[in-house]
Amino acid sequence: MKIMILVSNFRINIERFSSLFDYELPKSVTHQLLLAALVSLLQLSLIAPIDAQETTKSNPVVRNMVTFCVMGDVPYKPEEDVLLPRQIAEIPNEAEFVIHVGDIKTGSAPCDEAVYQKVSGMLRKTVAPVFIIPGDNEWNDCTNPAEAWVFWEQYFMRFDRQWNHHLPVFRQLEREENFSFVKGDVLFVGLNIVGGRIHDAAEWKKRHADNIEWIRRNLQQFGSKVSSMVIFGHAHPNVGHIDFFVPFVKEALKFKKPILYLHGDGHKWTHDRPFFPAQNILRVQVDQGGIAPPLKVTITNHETKPFHFDRRKAKEKSVPQ
Ligand SMILES: [Zn+2]
Repeated sequence: MKIMILVSNFRINIERFSSLFDYELPKSVTHQLLLAALVSLLQLSLIAPIDAQETTKSNPVVRNMVTFCVMGDVPYKPEEDVLLPRQIAEIPNEAEFVIHVGDIKTGSAPCDEAVYQKVSGMLRKTVAPVFIIPGDNEWNDCTNPAEAWVFWEQYFMRFDRQWNHHLPVFRQLEREENFSFVKGDVLFVGLNIVGGRIHDAAEWKKRHADNIEWIRRNLQQFGSKVSSMVIFGHAHPNVGHIDFFVPFVKEALKFKKPILYLHGDGHKWTHDRPFFPAQNILRVQVDQGGIAPPLKVTITNHETKPFHFDRRKAKEKSVPQ
């Protein structure tokens, strides 16, 4: 299928774009859907830095609801095996939990059990409870994804249970790596959504459908009670995720309140609103762990700008993916 679309002065050859991501366009996806999705993915609108002190008439007192730390794509290089434990020891006390958004090794390193064991041992030293979601490097992109998943389950499934904490965690019955909890008026949802190759098209489709279902169920249950929502995923959105992000945008438009999609995968700090027309979704891609310490996120009760980020002295440089 070859389609040329003109979107905001971007001429896109979908065939080439999709082959870039090793993605075969599903026949069920209509041209209209593709256009909507591409507009969503390519529309860039930078927003002004957030003023933590800002108040509105309807929301006169801005107060912090919850603080946590997020890391991703670490440890990669041998020196990061030394760096990560140090970063973990320096996680601010106010972090109520920590999340690793996937990729616990480089794509080229073998998916040996020792890697899962090593990283799980490092993360367990964290004072606050740690949640972790799968990255493509330790599962989807492995030579033997089935074997890699056994290791992932063994070392990381329900990882937060290693701590004695009081967060009211739910797990999706059909997919236990997906979790959710409400803390400080914020709904947190963790998803298995990875980048990398499409190792199994049916598996990707089913997982994306499960992810949307999990978001819908949580919004049904908690949507009216919370002031914002945070989605944790690994994937930097691309055409391989259209069947997830198109319905996600629809849910966001219905929810209306602020949403943060927080992910890894691309290694460089990104802060934008690419999901047109759902301008209530802020997307943040975290710095790779070798570039910056875990990102500190503070969420307030502000009606439109609740998300605040502290990169904690991040160096402005990129590293190979
Ligand atoms: Zn990745």
